[in-house]
Amino acid sequence: MDEKFLQIKQEWLDRCVRCGSCKNVCPVFNATREEPSVSRGKISLIDMIQKGYGKLDREAAFLFKKCTTCLRCQEICAMDIPYEEIILKAREAATAKFGLFPQEKAITTILKNEKLFDSAGSFSRLSYLLFKPSKSPQNAVSKFPVPGKGATVIPAIKEGKFNYKDRNFPAKAERKGKLIYFPGCIFSRAYTDTSKNIIKVLNHLGYDIFISSKTVCCGAPSLHAGDTKSFEELKNKNLKILNEIEADGIVTGCATCCHNLKHNYKKLNKPVFQFLEILEQNIETIRQWEVKEPLKVTWHHPCHIVRGQNIPKDVPRKIFESINGITYIEMKESDNCCGMGGSFKMIYPGISDKIQIRKISNIMATDADAVITECPGCIMNIAEGLEKVNSSMPCNHTADILAKCIKTTY
Ligand code: SF4
Ligand code: SF4
Repeated sequence: MDEKFLQIKQEWLDRCVRCGSCKNVCPVFNATREEPSVSRGKISLIDMIQKGYGKLDREAAFLFKKCTTCLRCQEICAMDIPYEEIILKAREAATAKFGLFPQEKAITTILKNEKLFDSAGSFSRLSYLLFKPSKSPQNAVSKFPVPGKGATVIPAIKEGKFNYKDRNFPAKAERKGKLIYFPGCIFSRAYTDTSKNIIKVLNHLGYDIFISSKTVCCGAPSLHAGDTKSFEELKNKNLKILNEIEADGIVTGCATCCHNLKHNYKKLNKPVFQFLEILEQNIETIRQWEVKEPLKVTWHHPCHIVRGQNIPKDVPRKIFESINGITYIEMKESDNCCGMGGSFKMIYPGISDKIQIRKISNIMATDADAVITECPGCIMNIAEGLEKVNSSMPCNHTADILAKCIKTTY
C-alpha cells in the first residue's frame, strides 16, 4: 500500500454505489467508452490501491490524468462524492512517485518562472514564420496543418507582462468600491487586450481597480498536475500580496483562477469574484449599454464557472440579453467541457480533439456571429476548433464584447 493514499478518506470511496450515472455525462468516457476513463473507474482503482489489491504504477498514474476535471461526474453524483478532491490527491501521490509528465513539466516550469515566460514572449515574435493571426483575436493559428490534427492555435504571447508595475485605474462612474484585478498568468502574458477591457468595463461600472506587479500564476496548473509543492509556493506568494492590499475584493476574468482562489486560498482576507458576477451585480447599468451593430452571440459555460463556482447557468443570458442590439442564442450542451482540461489536451490530444469537435458542432449549429466565454483555456481551444472547420466565427472573452458596448456618458 502506498502511504500517500492514506490521505484519501476511505469513506469518500465507500460512498460510490457503482450506479454509473457519471458515465452518461463524462466527456472522456463518451470519447473512449472505457470504464477507467470515468470517475467510477478511477474511484474503483484508487480503492483497490488503497486496500493493497492494486499498485500505484505508471499505468495508474497515466489514468489519473485521463480526466479534464470538468466536474460533470461530481455534479450528477447522488452520493455527493468529492471527486475533485479525490483525483487531485491521487495525482499528487502519482506525481510524488513518478514525477510530472514532460508536457506538465514544460507548462508548470514556464508558468512559475518569470524569466522563462519572458523568453517565451521573445520566441513568439519569431513564430510569424509558422503562425498567422487567428479569426479569434489575440490568438495565432498555424500556417500549415499539423499532420493528423489540422490547425493548431496558440495565444499570441506578449513580450512584457501586463502587470509590469503597480497601477491604479480610477472609476469612471459613480464610485462603488475598489477591487484588485488578478490577471493570473495567461491574462498577464497573452490576452492582455482582454485585461484592458476587463478594467475598462469595471471602471465604467464604478470600480477603482488596482493591479499589483507582484502577483504570479495562481498555481492551478501545478495543482492539477499533482505538483502540490509548486502550487503552495505560488499560493503563498499571492496570498501575502493580496492580503496586504486594502480593497473590497478581488476580481478575475479567468474561470480557473477564480475557482482556485475561491476554493484553495483559504487564508484570503477578502472576497473573490468572477468578472461575470460583477456584471450580474450591475445589470441595471448594463441595460443602458448597446452594441453599434446587431450581434448574435452564443455562450460556452467554462466548467470552472458553472460547476467549479456554481454560478447559475442563466447569468450569461441575463447579461447579454440586457444589452441593446445583442441576441443571445443558447447552444446545445452549452455546459459540456470543450476538451481543454489544462495539460489534458497535451497528454491526451486524440480524446481532447473528439470532445472539441462535439463542442464546435454545437457552436456552429447556433449560426451566431461570435461565441463568448470566460476562460483563457476554453478561448484558445474553441478558437482552434473553429479554425479546423474554417469557420469565420471568432471566440471572445465576455469583456471584449462588453467593452464595445459601454455608454460613456453618465
Ligand atoms: S455517479 Fe457517483 S455513485 Fe454513481 S458510479 Fe459515479 S461516482 Fe459512483
Ligand atoms: S471530471 Fe469530467 S472528465 Fe473527469 S471523470 Fe468526471 S466527468 Fe469525466
